[in-house]
Amino acid sequence: MIKIENLKKIYKNGSISVEALKGATIEVKPKEFVSIMGPSGSGKSTMMNILGCLDKPSEGKYELGGEKIEELSDGELAVIRNKKIGFVFQSFNLLPRISTLKNVELPMIYAGVPPKERHKRAIEALERVGLGDRIDHKSNELSGGQRQRVAIARSLVNNPDIILADEPTGNLDTKSGDEIMAIFQQLNNEGATIVMVTHEPEIAAHTKRIITFRDGEVVEDKLVENQIILG
Ligand code: ADP
Ligand code: ADP
Repeated sequence: MIKIENLKKIYKNGSISVEALKGATIEVKPKEFVSIMGPSGSGKSTMMNILGCLDKPSEGKYELGGEKIEELSDGELAVIRNKKIGFVFQSFNLLPRISTLKNVELPMIYAGVPPKERHKRAIEALERVGLGDRIDHKSNELSGGQRQRVAIARSLVNNPDIILADEPTGNLDTKSGDEIMAIFQQLNNEGATIVMVTHEPEIAAHTKRIITFRDGEVVEDKLVENQIILG
């Protein structure tokens, strides 16, 4: 699914350059559920931006679902992003003034899915996250946990190869955070591949594998021995 080999990222600002990733090698197989951990500044966001095709590596290889990402143009990357990747963010990133249903339909509008099909897939996705009865609500009428569930539904609708989640429980209380993790576990059981950044060991304990970064390098990569199952 994901093959990253000796990946480097150097940020240059004038005469100052920062080596944010110093040669990371990671493989993620289909149906894995991975946490990325590490202190602030260790390169997690840089890695997620590259995984999400939002940024390109300075050196090294990145293969996603058979595509050699480092060889693609920015336009081609935008297409891959929409087709192959579902994004879930800490701050949900929903449009506040439109309905839940419309928010979930948005990625399909960009992908050119016809209206009827969009509607059907959006409803299905909202039902998968337990929000089939909230399709007409606007996001400011929903709780934080419900908003994040809308965002997860939105991440699913183009049948992505991988879901990338950046601190998805970071703005939620423990109970709502656990509900979100229960949904990710359910999706993972149904076959979804998920890579998630988290600072919290309790949240990482709900995943299957933890990759730890420090100073731009992978310093640990281990399976979670007793994954805590929710739900
Ligand atoms: P199978 O095809 O039999 O399911 P996989 O090779 O896909 O076996 O992987 C089995 C499990 O091992 C996966 O669920 C995944 O969590 C874990 N795994 C796979 N690759 C790695 C790896 N490089 N490092 C750590 N764990 C891995
Ligand atoms: P994390 O997500 O683990 O906090 P980051 O990937 O954000 O780590 O940062 C890794 C390193 O790269 C840090 O030293 C950070 O200051 C630097 N960095 C991140 N983004 C930029 C940028 N756009 N320009 C310059 N330096 C950056």
